[in-house]
Amino acid sequence: MIERLDDPAAARAWCAREREAGRTIGFVPTMGALHAGHLSLVERALAENDRACVSVFVNPLQFDEAQDFDHYPRDFGADVDLLDGVGCSMVFTGTLAGFFPDELDDDGALRPEFSVDPGAAALGLEGACRDGHFEGVATIVDRLFDVVGPTRAYFGQKDFQQSLVVGDLAARRGGPEVVVCPIAREPHGLARSSRNERLSAGDRERAAVIARALGAADDAWSAGERDAGALSRRMVDVLSREPRFALEYAELRDPRAWTGDAPTGALERAVALVAGRFGDVRLIDNRVLGEAP
Ligand code: AMP
Repeated sequence: MIERLDDPAAARAWCAREREAGRTIGFVPTMGALHAGHLSLVERALAENDRACVSVFVNPLQFDEAQDFDHYPRDFGADVDLLDGVGCSMVFTGTLAGFFPDELDDDGALRPEFSVDPGAAALGLEGACRDGHFEGVATIVDRLFDVVGPTRAYFGQKDFQQSLVVGDLAARRGGPEVVVCPIAREPHGLARSSRNERLSAGDRERAAVIARALGAADDAWSAGERDAGALSRRMVDVLSREPRFALEYAELRDPRAWTGDAPTGALERAVALVAGRFGDVRLIDNRVLGEAP
């Protein structure tokens, strides 16, 4: 039976007891509305550690749009049942005040001096499109690492830039080990996301265009194309054929040498990254070119 805790202080005590007993903890931070992508991270955490522990917290610090935060799907009871089903050891949630008991001002907002610097991987793309997003991510992940004290922490490649930000954060803190897991997809290719639930049935089908665009970039890479601009244009060509998709970016980066601006000229290594919207639902996806998806 899974342990369900509603307060970060109780989670801290549970994790401390496990560590004192000499058990390793694999930790998966989430915002809930769990799907097969999240569960693949939990299964990996269970396979590589004595205990797997999950947090479910829709972190207000990382939302730049109030309506996205308000509409974010929440069903903690269903999440607990899913986690119990895969053998997860403990799940916890909390409130902003529960996570930051001494760091909020009188209006309940985090005082700016407690915001954690997300580092250079936060430059560009998601960092440029979503003001303050990665500060919010780094601040909550830093606190979650304090609460859990995990041996390893599991993140999805789905949020590629986030995985770089948390990798840098863990390196600065001296741990935990960050494990980045493959993207789980729906049968027609759309990357699984809690936000997919908010798409109409038609848009959910149409959204497979994002995976097709990434596939087109990968095909071009396999055929020898290395020019960042040309690879980006391949994606834009595919995406522009879907009129309901409002493109925010379709760009390349060197995954091992992140830059805020899009690189120009030939790339040695490349990750293709796409963001855009169907209606008011924002989707992101990516693919490391030349690797099995
Ligand atoms: P979220 O609840 O969206 O904050 O996601 C929690 C963790 O699950 C993050 O590390 C995500 O990158 C990861 N994740 C979300 N969607 C997927 C997916 N389709 N495949 C693999 N990991 C995912």
